[in-house]
Formats: sequence, structure tokens, C-alpha cells
Amino acid sequence: MRPYILAETNWKALKGAEFELAVLPWGATEAHNYHLPYATDVIEADYLAAESAKKAWEKGAKVIVLPTIPFGVNTGQSDIFLDINLNPSTQLAILSDVIEVLNRQGINKLLIFNSHGGNDFKSIVRELGLKYPDMFICVTNWFQSMDRSSYFDNPGDHADEMETSLLLYLKPELVLPNEEWGKGSEKKNKIAAFSEGWAWAERKWSQVSEDTGIGNPEFATKEKGENFFNAVTDKMGDLFLEISEADRQNLYE
Ligand SMILES: [Zn+2]
Repeated sequence: MRPYILAETNWKALKGAEFELAVLPWGATEAHNYHLPYATDVIEADYLAAESAKKAWEKGAKVIVLPTIPFGVNTGQSDIFLDINLNPSTQLAILSDVIEVLNRQGINKLLIFNSHGGNDFKSIVRELGLKYPDMFICVTNWFQSMDRSSYFDNPGDHADEMETSLLLYLKPELVLPNEEWGKGSEKKNKIAAFSEGWAWAERKWSQVSEDTGIGNPEFATKEKGENFFNAVTDKMGDLFLEISEADRQNLYE
């Protein structure tokens, strides 16, 4: 029973406990190429947030990890079977309710630990920050925390070498054998600005990828997954500790 995981701890331990920082992992339930489980983003969020919190806790951080929200924004995947979409406005409502509890009970820092590319919390954080001036609300995308090119051969952004490696390390029993892995090739928008990144439109997922993956998982290994997991959780553990110890009123120098 880990004292920094809300789902595992109990009223006996929590009565009178004090925390500085709540971490809310946020995933998605969606197809991940042919071979990875629909809960891939949830599994990654669970394990990465828990291990990061462990590392921070052992250095004295007063951190509590809330249960992972299992659904994310999948508006671009509406025709992919059982991808469960949560609209951004629903995310605003959920966060608003969670923050109301934290704010009332004096846990004034919240880090949203995002595990899914379609979740975009910035505008929500702005809006709720205005509504709850005593709260420090922030967000991190763990998948952007490291330079992936030093860990993986093929770049990608969905069910790619990175995600396949992580799942081979965390939940190998849920990964299909590699003869089942799709290539994860992506069709680019004919209008160059969108692939160059200076204009944005949501990708119609079923039209850009045949197997729902983006990024070739071919060279994924458990060892790469383990190295990356350790690197991300070292870095995130430091971030949890820093936020936990930070003075909300005195953040700038
Ligand atoms: Zn994913």
C-alpha cells in the first residue's frame, strides 16, 4: 500500500494527513495500432505517475496521486470502434469539480499528468486558474519531457516505437506478437502548412493511418522501454518535488 497513491491508501492514514501537491493522471481509451491495448495511455499514466511520485516522496515531497481519468479527447477518431470520446467541455467540468475539492481542503497545487496527445489542457487551466486564484494549476505531457531521439530509432506519435517499448516493459502480456504489428505509416495533409506545423487542423484519424498507429514500432524493445521509463520518472520525480516545495506566491526570479 503506497501512501502517495489515493486509490491504495485509507482513511486511517489520511485522517490528519497533509499534502502540498495533487497529481491527476489523464489517459484515453482508444485503438493503438493492431497490437497495443486500448488502455495504453492509461497504463502509461498509471505507472509513470506512480513511479515519479515514489521518487519524489522518497525525497520528502508531500504528493498524492489521484486515480487516472480513463477517457480522453478522441473527437478525431469518432469512426474508430469503441474509441471513447470525452469532449473538452466535459474535461473542464471534471477538472472544475476536482479542483473545487482540492481548493476547499487546502491542497493548493494540482499537476495534470497528461498521457494523451488529443488532451489539450492549456485553455482549461487558464479558465480554472482565473476562477480559483488560490490554486496553482499546471500540466505536463510526459511524452514531451525527454528528447525521444536519444532513446528510439523511429519517431512517431501514436502506438509507435516508444509506446510499444513502454508496454513491452510494463505489460508485455497485453502486447500482440510482433508479426501482428502494423507499420504505423501516416498520410500527410496535401496543404503543406499543416504538416509544417504553422497551421493546425484536427487529423481525421481513419484517413491518415490504416492501422490506427502513427510511427513504426518495428524496433521497439522492452529494454528501450525500461530505459525511457526510468529517465522520464527521474525527471518527473524532480518536477513533483519542485512543485511540491515551491512557494506559490513567489515563483519568479
Ligand atoms: Zn497512446
